[in-house]
Amino acid sequence: MHHSTARSEELFREAQQVIPGGVNSPVRAFKAVGGTPRFIARAQGAYLWDADGNQLLDYIGSWGPMILGHNHPAVVAAIQQALAEGLSYGAPTEREIRLAQRVREAYPSADLVRFVSSGTEATMSALRLARGYTGRDLIVKFRGNYHGHADSLLVQAGSGLLTGGGGSARSAPSSAGVPQAFAELTLVADYNEPQALEDLFQRYGEQIAAVIFEPVVGNAGVLIPTPAFLEALHRLTRQYGALLIADEVMTGFRLAKGGAVELLGLQPDLICWGKILGGGLPVGAYGGRAEIMQQVAPLGPVYQAGTLSGNPLSMAAGLATLETLFQDPPYARLEAYGAALEQGLQTLFAEAGLPVAINRVGSMITVFFREGPVQTYTEAVASDTERFKAFFHGLLQRGVYWPPSQFEAAFFSLAHGPQELDKTLEAIAQALKEPALL
Ligand code: PMP
Repeated sequence: MHHSTARSEELFREAQQVIPGGVNSPVRAFKAVGGTPRFIARAQGAYLWDADGNQLLDYIGSWGPMILGHNHPAVVAAIQQALAEGLSYGAPTEREIRLAQRVREAYPSADLVRFVSSGTEATMSALRLARGYTGRDLIVKFRGNYHGHADSLLVQAGSGLLTGGGGSARSAPSSAGVPQAFAELTLVADYNEPQALEDLFQRYGEQIAAVIFEPVVGNAGVLIPTPAFLEALHRLTRQYGALLIADEVMTGFRLAKGGAVELLGLQPDLICWGKILGGGLPVGAYGGRAEIMQQVAPLGPVYQAGTLSGNPLSMAAGLATLETLFQDPPYARLEAYGAALEQGLQTLFAEAGLPVAINRVGSMITVFFREGPVQTYTEAVASDTERFKAFFHGLLQRGVYWPPSQFEAAFFSLAHGPQELDKTLEAIAQALKEPALL
C-alpha cells in the first residue's frame, strides 16, 4: 500500500534549490497537509504517474482544465496540427474567431470575447474594464473567493490564501506586497449573506464599479449559492449601476455547456473564463455585452494586451476541448458519477460515525470535515483540518490523488468511470479504518 516516494523526495529537495518552495504555484507544495508533493511524470485519462512510477487516480485534473481526462486524443491531435504550423505569430488567426464563436454559442450574453493567457489576467482585465466603464473605483469581492493573484483581488482571498479571520469591509491584503491603498479599493462581503451585501451597497453603492464572485465557489471548498444571495447580487448591482462579474474560470464549461450562468440562470454583465477553455494549455478570457466590451483597446480607452494572447496552440487545445464537449454534452454523465461518488461517501462516513458535510455541484465536490450544512465561509473554515490531512494522506497512500487542502474543490472527468468509482470508494473505506481519521 505505501508508495515509494524516494524520487519525488529527491526532486523536491532539488527543486527547492532553484524554485521558491520547489513549486510554481503554492498549493502544489502540500503545505496544508504536510509530506512531499508527488512530482508527476505523465498522465493519461483519469490517472497520473509520479516520478517513482506510482499510479494515481486524479481528482485534481490540473485544478479544473482536464474535464475530458488527460491526453484526450482530439486535443492532442489538434495541438499537433497547430504545432506543425508554428508556435506564435503575434497576429490574428482564424482559430481565435472559432473559439470566440464557441464561447458565444455557450454564453449567448457575451457579444464580444477577449482572450488572455490565464484566469488571473481575465479577472484583472474585467475589473479594469468595469472601472473604466463605470468611472468608479471600488470593487466588491467575497471572503474566501479566489480570482487569481492580481493586487486588488488578493484581499481576503481563498484557495492557497485561505486563513481564518474576520476583518472590516475595507480589509487588509492577504498577501505582502499588496499596498494597503490598493486593498482599500476592495470591499469584502460574506458569500451567501445577502444582508451584508445590502449594507455594503447602502454605504458605498454609488462608488462601486463591480461585484466579482464565484457563481459556485471552488476556492473555499465547494460552496453553493443560495437563491436569496443570487437575487441580492443581481438586484443591488442593477439598482446602484455596478457591474456584476461572474468568475467562471473554474465553473465555465464544467457545470453545464454555459457554466453556472446557464445552470443557475444568472445574468452577469461580464464573465471570466480560463481552465477548460484552454484544454490544459494557458488561456483565459473575458466577455460581455458589446457596449461594455467596446471600451477595450483598440476600440476604447481601457488598455489590455498580451504577446501570447490567442496563442495558436492554446486556441487549438481549447477548440478541440469545447468541440468535444459540445458534440456530445457530458453533463448528465458527470452528474451521475458525482451523485454515485457523493452517495458512496455519505454511506462510508455514516458507517464510520464521522460527521462530514459534502457539497457538490456536478463534477466539483468537497468533503468538509464538520457537521453540515456548510454554506458560508465562516462555516467552511470551522472544518477539522487535522482530520482532512489524515483523509488526504490515507487516500494518497492508496493511489487516490485528492486536492491537498480542505479548502479546494475536487474535480473529476469523463475518463472517470465505474472502475474509478470503485477504486475511490474502496480507498476511502480502507482509509476510514485508520485511527488518525477517527
Ligand atoms: N478565478 C477562479 C475562480 C479560479 O479558480 C482561479 C484559479 N484557480 C483563477 C480565477 C485564477 O486563474 P489562473 O490560476 O489561471 O490565473
